[in-house]
Amino acid sequence: MKHLSRRTFSSRMALGAAALWAGPHLSIKGATPRQGQGRSLGVALVGLGSYSTYQLAPALQQTKHCHLAGIVTGTPAKAERWQAEYGIGKDHVYSYESFDAIANDPDIDIVYVVLPNSMHAEFCIRAARAGKHVICEKPMAVSVAECDAIINACREAGVKLSVGYRLQSEPYTQEIKRLVREKTFGDVRFVSADAGYISRGNPEQWRLDRERSGGGALMNMGVYSIQSCIYSCGKNPIGVSAQEFSTRPEYFRDTDETITAQFTFPGGVVGQMMTSHNANANRLYGSCEAGWFELQPANNYGPLRGNTSKGPIEFPHESQQKLQMDDFARHILEGSPNRAPGEMGRRDMVIVEAIYRSIGDGGRQIAIDLPEGYGIVKE
Ligand code: NAD
Repeated sequence: MKHLSRRTFSSRMALGAAALWAGPHLSIKGATPRQGQGRSLGVALVGLGSYSTYQLAPALQQTKHCHLAGIVTGTPAKAERWQAEYGIGKDHVYSYESFDAIANDPDIDIVYVVLPNSMHAEFCIRAARAGKHVICEKPMAVSVAECDAIINACREAGVKLSVGYRLQSEPYTQEIKRLVREKTFGDVRFVSADAGYISRGNPEQWRLDRERSGGGALMNMGVYSIQSCIYSCGKNPIGVSAQEFSTRPEYFRDTDETITAQFTFPGGVVGQMMTSHNANANRLYGSCEAGWFELQPANNYGPLRGNTSKGPIEFPHESQQKLQMDDFARHILEGSPNRAPGEMGRRDMVIVEAIYRSIGDGGRQIAIDLPEGYGIVKE
C-alpha cells in the first residue's frame, strides 16, 4: 500500500505542477540578464533556511564571479537580519508573493532556489520567466515531469540552468572522473556508493513530509549515491533493482528510511548503492581491472579524503559552494562548461523514479532508458 500511495502521490504532484506552469507567462521585456566578461553576477537566494544561512551566503562572500545581491523570504524579521549582515538594500528584498517583480531588478542575474523540494519547480519556472538564470537545489524536483517543466521554462526564456550539485565542482570528485576517463586503473568493473545520516530531529520537518520532500532518504541523500555511481564509471545505468527497509516506522511515517539498489551499466559494469535517514554513510568506491579508488568521506562539505591503489589523493580544501557558484557564473560569463546542467538533475530523477518503481514491484529489475551519455558533462 505504501508504494501504491507513493506512485499516486508522484502523479498528483506532476499534475499539480503542470497546472501551475500552464498559467500566463509573466516575462517582462528587457529582463534578459546582462552579459559580459570580467564582471560579478548578482545572486538572489530564495529561501533563507539552514543551507542558505550557513553555506551559501558565507560562500558568496568568497566568490570571484558572483556575489549576494538579493534575498527572497517569507519572514520579514529574517530579511532585516540579512539586510544588516550583508548590506542588502530594501529594493533587493522579495517575499514569495512579490518575487516576480525581480524581473525589474537589474542587479540580480541569478536566482538560486533553496526551498523544500516540492517548491523547486514553481520558483525555478517563475525565475526563468523573470528572465533570470537559475540554480535549482538538489534534488531538482519531485518528479521527472517537473524537471521537464523547469528545463523547458529555462529554454523558452533563454536563461541558463544548473542544479546545486556542489561536488561536480569539487577537486576530489573531479579527480575520480579523471581517473575513470583516462582509465588510470583500466576499465571500471564495479562501483559502490553510500550516503546517509541518522535523522532524529523534529518529526514535523519537511524532509519527513512526502508532500513537501517528494520522498525520504532517496530524494535527500540518495541522489549523491546515484551521482557517485555514475561518475565512478562514467556511464548511466541501464537497469536497477531496489529494496526498502523500515525499522522506525513511527518516525518515518511518510517517507523512505533506508534504500538499497543494484545497478547494471553498459559494458558489464555493475554497481550498488545505499541511502538512509537511519545510518551514517559517506563513501564511494570503484573497483577496476588493475586497481581501485575510494572517497571517504565522499559527499559532505569537505575536506573530502581520497585513496587509490597507487596512493592517496590530496587537494587543499576550498568551499565547495564557492567553487560551484563561481563555475556557474563563469559558464554564463565565459561559456565554460556547465558542470551540473538541468539534464543531469532530470537524469537522476529518472533513476529515482525507477528505484521507487522497482520497490513498488517487489524489487523487480526495471529498465532505465536514457540516451547514451545523457546528463554526463564531458570536460
Ligand atoms: P531548511 O528547512 O533549513 O530551509 C528551508 C527554507 O524554506 C526555510 O527558510 C523555510 O522558511 C522556507 N520555506 C518556505 N516554505 C516552506 C514550507 N512550506 N515548508 C518548509 N519550509 C518552507 O532546508 P535546507 O536544508 O536549507 O534545504 C533547502 C533545499 O536545499 C532543499 O532542496 C535541500 O535538498 C537543499 N540542500 C542542499 C544541500 C547541498 O549540499 N547541495 C545541503 C542542504 C540542503
